[in-house]
Amino acid sequence: MFDALSDRLESAWKKLRGQDKISQSNIQDALREVRRALLEADVNLQVVKDFINDVETKAQGAEVISGVKPDQQFIKIVYDELLAVMGEENVPLAQAYNAPTVVLMAGLQGTGKTTATAKLALHLRKINRTCMMVATDVYRPAAIDQLITLGKQIDVPVFDMGSDGNPVEIARQGVERAKAEGIDTVIVDTAGRLFIDADMMAELASIKETVKPDEVLLVVDAMTGQEAASLTRTFHEQIGITGAILTKMDGDSRGGAALSVRRISGQPIKFIGVGEKVEALQPFYPDRMASRILGMGDVLTLVEKAQEEIDLADAEKMQEKILSAKFDFTDFLKQLRLLKNMGSLGGIMKMLPGMGKISDDQLKQGEVQLKRCEAMINSMTPKERRDPDLLASSPSRRRRVAGGSGYKEPDVSKLVSDFQRMRSMMQQMGQGNFPGMPGGMFG
Ligand code: GDP
Repeated sequence: MFDALSDRLESAWKKLRGQDKISQSNIQDALREVRRALLEADVNLQVVKDFINDVETKAQGAEVISGVKPDQQFIKIVYDELLAVMGEENVPLAQAYNAPTVVLMAGLQGTGKTTATAKLALHLRKINRTCMMVATDVYRPAAIDQLITLGKQIDVPVFDMGSDGNPVEIARQGVERAKAEGIDTVIVDTAGRLFIDADMMAELASIKETVKPDEVLLVVDAMTGQEAASLTRTFHEQIGITGAILTKMDGDSRGGAALSVRRISGQPIKFIGVGEKVEALQPFYPDRMASRILGMGDVLTLVEKAQEEIDLADAEKMQEKILSAKFDFTDFLKQLRLLKNMGSLGGIMKMLPGMGKISDDQLKQGEVQLKRCEAMINSMTPKERRDPDLLASSPSRRRRVAGGSGYKEPDVSKLVSDFQRMRSMMQQMGQGNFPGMPGGMFG
């Protein structure tokens, strides 16, 4: 499913490729694909509509960035918008000024609330915060037993009063106990129902009122998709949440619920559950989720790097040089270094959509060749770099460069002739599309 989607986005991007500006008419296909991608990722319909509108507005007003193609730029706009909706960074769990920090867990039955309670406790224990869990689900004795078992497993105490007590009272006493014992964080697991019902909400509200939690975390099952939006709305309106944990992200879900939850409640996803085991909890990172929702790989990283590295005026000057055949070894070296700054060649190639099929061997070869070129150019005098003909006509110069770089004279000879061939080809092409390297050269 992921592959099919990337392919479809690919074809939309292809239509954009080669056009030098983002305009209302040329982004419609791409927008449609993004819309589909979001719907497939289970983002709520209304959230998708708002999102697409925002992206369209931003894309139309976008300045063209030199060295970045419009299709790539478009992806970046979508990506940035996803980040804007989900929050730029991971938001850590609140920590109360006066211990204990109280965390109230809310959510429907079966979403993974009890498991998440234990996962969170283990996570905190690992960063040296002492924990206590409180079992208030008196309606399901099995839920209390489950928490006690998990507590033993992760070595975290569980406060419970069996299944006869009043949930609000249990929560209150649990927090009192944690305070008395100097515990850092107390996590209150609550009863869930299969559907939202008034009693459950009323009980949650009064537990909240009583223990005054620092965090109210809504546990959302990522597999519930579209429904995550209405669930979030109801819980946020009636209880007021401060964040969410998205569970079952190890499944097929693309995680669109993350977008809905944040957009609707304005509160961040703090963690994701990625498996049934108690260790399977990770802090939530919006950038990773944005890539996952789009099914895009790391092309975004590439665009970001290009934006950082490429100076507009510089790129234009370079283009002029190429067209007028004034491009010399110094310019070439600059381009090589640019490529290197952007990361290893292998890393860059892999980031490009559709480039996955290049073998590691081929990549390695490419990198070795880049290094070779650089070593040889470094051994040239400034005059030789400016005027490759000097080298072309002088075997002794080539031998000196070879000696200095640790290669042989024929290697230098080949570099020079390849370079000259490339230069005249670029000149002929006229429309050099910089910064791209013609493939297959300097082999
Ligand atoms: P609760 O009713 O909300 O307390 O849900 P539970 O904590 O009992 O979890 C319900 C089911 O979901 C159990 O079988 C869990 O093992 C499973 N579960 C919880 N979190 C995850 C997760 O992140 N990934 C997977 N694959 N399963 C999970």
